Amino acid sequence: MSKKRTAVITGSTSGIGLGIARALAENGYNIVVNSFSDTSEDRAITADLASKHGSTAEYIQADMSDAGQCRALIANAMEKFGSVDVLVNNAGIQHVAKIEEFPAEKWDAIIAINLSSAFHTSAAAIPLMKEAGWGRIINIASAHGLTASPFKSAYIAAKHGVVGLSKTIALEFAEARVNATCNAICPGYVLTPLMEAQIADQMKVHNMGRDDVIEKVMLLRQPTRQFATVDQIGGTAVFLCSDAAAQITGTSISVDGGWTAL
Ligand code: NAD
Repeated sequence: MSKKRTAVITGSTSGIGLGIARALAENGYNIVVNSFSDTSEDRAITADLASKHGSTAEYIQADMSDAGQCRALIANAMEKFGSVDVLVNNAGIQHVAKIEEFPAEKWDAIIAINLSSAFHTSAAAIPLMKEAGWGRIINIASAHGLTASPFKSAYIAAKHGVVGLSKTIALEFAEARVNATCNAICPGYVLTPLMEAQIADQMKVHNMGRDDVIEKVMLLRQPTRQFATVDQIGGTAVFLCSDAAAQITGTSISVDGGWTAL
């Protein structure tokens, strides 16, 4: 890369987003770290990322449940760094309940944060990428973007939507004849703070120890019986940004220990 490229990763103060931010920082990108909060911890995470990986990192607060803030995130990143070359739509939340008991406001929040935010950030970033002639949009979907489970209606609807959105963006980039791609990464279970909370809940529900819950409940659908790691998701994102991946577009890459092969 002659000029340093800039990567915006939504929801990147924790878990998979932070793993991707680290991996891209290690590979020479300027990084925009994002979350909805505005705390000294958010800024400390960003400073740590920059100092450990010798990269430039900025924290930009923006709530991905708000269309205007999604678009402002891209505009602010452009203003700070002069380009938005990589956009990783990662921010996401979960709620588990039967459809007939699923709170309507949780449905709306999950669709907004897990799906609509990717539309708004992409709509703001795509003209910049077309103008620059290069770009990568990576949407963090899920094995639940390709398969379903009970009690996760909003999450599964949103993640299937993200897979579809990725295909459409890819086709519009292709029409524009620019070196820009869009793909979804579909992780199986990854050990993150989001997942730790689910393990704790399942230990109570099943009256089991942590190891039993992990093996007999959480990883039941993951044939390798191992969690994917945030570093593996980060490595996949780095690969999708590479020249080797220039013809990989409009598809989804599963990092799920064989879940979707079953
Ligand atoms: P996490 O809870 O560790 O991190 C989520 C991040 O999103 C945090 O930085 C949080 O601050 C941010 N966020 C939440 N609401 C936001 C909002 N309104 N605006 C801006 N940022 C917001 O979760 P994670 O496990 O790292 O999940 C990251 C993504 O990966 C999500 O889209 C999730 O659906 C997906 N995913 C996770 C797993 C897994 O097993 N952990 C599996 C498949 C897909």
